[in-house]
Amino acid sequence: MNPPSPDNAPIEILIAEDSPTQLLQLRHVLETHGMSVTPALNGKEALALMEKRPPTMLITDIQMPEMDGYELCRRIKAHPLMANIPVILLTSLSDVRDIVSGLECGADNFIVKPYDEEFLMSRIHHILENQRLSREEPNANGIPFMFAGVRRVLPSHPSRMIGLLVSTYETAVQKNLALRDANAALEEKARELARSNADLERFGYIASHDLIEPLRTITNFLQLLERRYQSVLDNDAKEYIVFAVDGATRMRRLITALLEYSRVGTRAHPLSLCDCNKILATALQNLQVAIEESAAQVTHEVLPTVMADEIQLEQLLQNLIGNALKFHKPGEPPRIHIGVKRNGSDWQFSVQDHGIGIPEKESERIFEIFQRLHTVKEYAGTGIGLAICKKIVERHGGRIWVTSQPGAGSTFSFTIPAADGHVAQPQPC
Ligand code: ADP
Repeated sequence: MNPPSPDNAPIEILIAEDSPTQLLQLRHVLETHGMSVTPALNGKEALALMEKRPPTMLITDIQMPEMDGYELCRRIKAHPLMANIPVILLTSLSDVRDIVSGLECGADNFIVKPYDEEFLMSRIHHILENQRLSREEPNANGIPFMFAGVRRVLPSHPSRMIGLLVSTYETAVQKNLALRDANAALEEKARELARSNADLERFGYIASHDLIEPLRTITNFLQLLERRYQSVLDNDAKEYIVFAVDGATRMRRLITALLEYSRVGTRAHPLSLCDCNKILATALQNLQVAIEESAAQVTHEVLPTVMADEIQLEQLLQNLIGNALKFHKPGEPPRIHIGVKRNGSDWQFSVQDHGIGIPEKESERIFEIFQRLHTVKEYAGTGIGLAICKKIVERHGGRIWVTSQPGAGSTFSFTIPAADGHVAQPQPC
């Protein structure tokens, strides 16, 4: 609802603001609510404009070149023809002296920057309504006043009211400063966390990278031992060598996976527009052998174009589809569907299977590094695939989750913010 002007004339607001961005923003808000706006870049210009054509209300910044908001307000309130025009001061709520200076120069109200649009409009509405009430016959019991849409009568003891007003403002300023401190501390903590995360990632990368080489040497020499000394080794010794090689191979797989995990952060490419259909085709191509061997049926919808790291998106789809292939029900070929739908400002992708499913209580744990629900004998793997998926999705500003029913199948869903203006509308195949 647009606030009515006191006499139902169109509401004309003069804005005195030296920042073109702030001016534009405020102008946009007021014009959207049907008000007419005249801009002025400083107090002097505002005064000249007001003398020519008095507005319904003035909204003024405090700090401005040539003539500041206080001086502008003082001049208006001293002017016989303009004294009744309500003046709102825009303040950043950082100093209690603002309100005292505001009261001294005769300002009618304050608006704290950055302001909330709804709050700003209701404040303007109240000021205009109160202006109308103040023109009414004086009330013997006090001053008529509109607050939260209700007409009230306040006792007319100016000093008490001013005291109350200043103390309220003081509290607000203190809260605001405390909030600002808390925010600064939080930001510093976030920076520290990002720094130590990056250090950890680097450490993980170097450690895994440096471990691969000695491990390869161990495996090679064990195999050499087995070949060269076949005739002198008894069966037990041969078996021990097989166990040792197995262990070393598994360790190598784990380290390679760990390396891949740390690469999500350290070897990332900048995001660019990617056609997900092409990326899916490559992922399916990479999984071709597993698809053929398991006689899997894979269907998909037409996918959109998103801002992504192409290699990482390919890895994400490949990991999820790879799992859907791996965790199928024994004796039943996998059936997998890759879908997509628009969800607000995101694209929501899904990889659905009809496999063994996941108990609900495990649906968060499986995204953690090295967390598996099966032994390596039951299903091969390292327990890093989903942790990589999570890291990739989060790097793209999305989230990932699973819904599943044991014995009926699982649907892994993830979101990627839509690159609007570059999206292909998804349609069923
Ligand atoms: P990995 O596949 O190497 O074990 P992941 O991190 O990819 O590691 O998966 C972690 C665990 O989550 C798997 O061991 C499995 O228990 C479970 N899981 C993942 N995907 C599926 C799926 N599509 N169906 C059933 N269980 C799954």
